[in-house]
Amino acid sequence: MNSFTLIKEGEIALKSVFESFEEIAFKNQEKVLDAFRSNRIRDVHFNTSSGYGYGDIGRDDLEQVFADIFYAENAMVRGQIVSGTHAISACLFGLLRTGDHLISLTGKPYDTLGHIIGNENPARGTLVERGINYTEIDLTPVGHVDLAAIEKAIHRNTKMVLIQRSRGYNHRPALTIQDISDIIRVVRKGNPKTIIFIDNCYGEFTDLKEPVEIGADLVAGSLIKNAGGGLALSGGYIAGKHDLVEEVACHVTAPGLGKELGASLMNNRLLYQGLFLAPHVVLQALKSAALLSYVFEQLEYEVYPHWNASRGDIVQAVQLNSPEKVIEFTQIVQRYSPIDSDVNLEFAELPGYDDQVIMAAGTFVQGSSIELSCDAPLRSPYTAYFQGGLTYEHTRYVIAKLADSFMNK
Ligand SMILES: *Cc1c(COP(=O)(O)O)cnc(C)c1O
Repeated sequence: MNSFTLIKEGEIALKSVFESFEEIAFKNQEKVLDAFRSNRIRDVHFNTSSGYGYGDIGRDDLEQVFADIFYAENAMVRGQIVSGTHAISACLFGLLRTGDHLISLTGKPYDTLGHIIGNENPARGTLVERGINYTEIDLTPVGHVDLAAIEKAIHRNTKMVLIQRSRGYNHRPALTIQDISDIIRVVRKGNPKTIIFIDNCYGEFTDLKEPVEIGADLVAGSLIKNAGGGLALSGGYIAGKHDLVEEVACHVTAPGLGKELGASLMNNRLLYQGLFLAPHVVLQALKSAALLSYVFEQLEYEVYPHWNASRGDIVQAVQLNSPEKVIEFTQIVQRYSPIDSDVNLEFAELPGYDDQVIMAAGTFVQGSSIELSCDAPLRSPYTAYFQGGLTYEHTRYVIAKLADSFMNK
């Protein structure tokens, strides 16, 4: 069989899966459009500002648009938030005080968060070094959230719980909105005051609802992933309860300044336009992930998730079983990227990551992973994490190249 036949066969098998993704995109596009209309977004919102950035309506109204889309009372959306890690870190440092208890409900958090929490290496400035108690609840052996253990762990002094929606570099399913809703019910029962905080990276617009809409208190994520629609040049967002976002904003800027300051040095158009495109771009990414899953399952590799499973993020994991195959896989993604296609990849150290990682990111925006990208930590069982794609036409071509190369192995 050649790769073209395999892809055609996949697209037939995936017809109803693609239709269900489209339904989600239709609904989310409507939600995004409504937020633009009700906030009466115009040309003037795209202007830059300078200095303190007082009264920057482009910034303020963008934050209101985000709040509306996420059904949140308040949001902070800034180019100055340097990444998703920074947005999440700001929420943790902004809200937790000495003696508070933080519990991760989804096992070990995403690699870069380990350095913030400092439970394994309590370096200066980490949460643990500042006297915050941290525990985590392991996932069950099949990678599901352990609701019974959560019920037991939530106490009167549990200040905050952290829930990671996406799979990260783990062999676990992403959480669906239904899963998150089940967790929220258990946490609220144990302590109605506990702050329910969601690492929303890679989850935005993959479902009909967002976490705050179903009762989470706070979410944070990156603008060079789903919510930036491939156009945002950098940045992060935080959305949720009014007072929580204000308190976090006082950490991002300074107490007394909060969200009032911060000039829009970049033209805001890319943030607005990227957000407008985000439901469609996420649709491209979801279709790409499902097609890759189908193709590599036919080639007899372990894939997570299965091609017709429901999805809570845009990531497709393919277990390749050797570093050599990971290099081959990521190199093909790089070779057929629009930017830096001639670059040769290798495993290397990267700030924030413990294991060496390899990353294919032939992207217009550096490191953007809503654009087609693929990365893998150097650890067994040597799994490549493939995500993004601004157009399905592009990713389909890359998947054909991957299939050609892996077909006879
Ligand atoms: C990408 C990601 C982050 C944050 O990473 P940045 O590269 O700093 O944006 C955090 N959690 C998860 C699950 C992620 O996928």
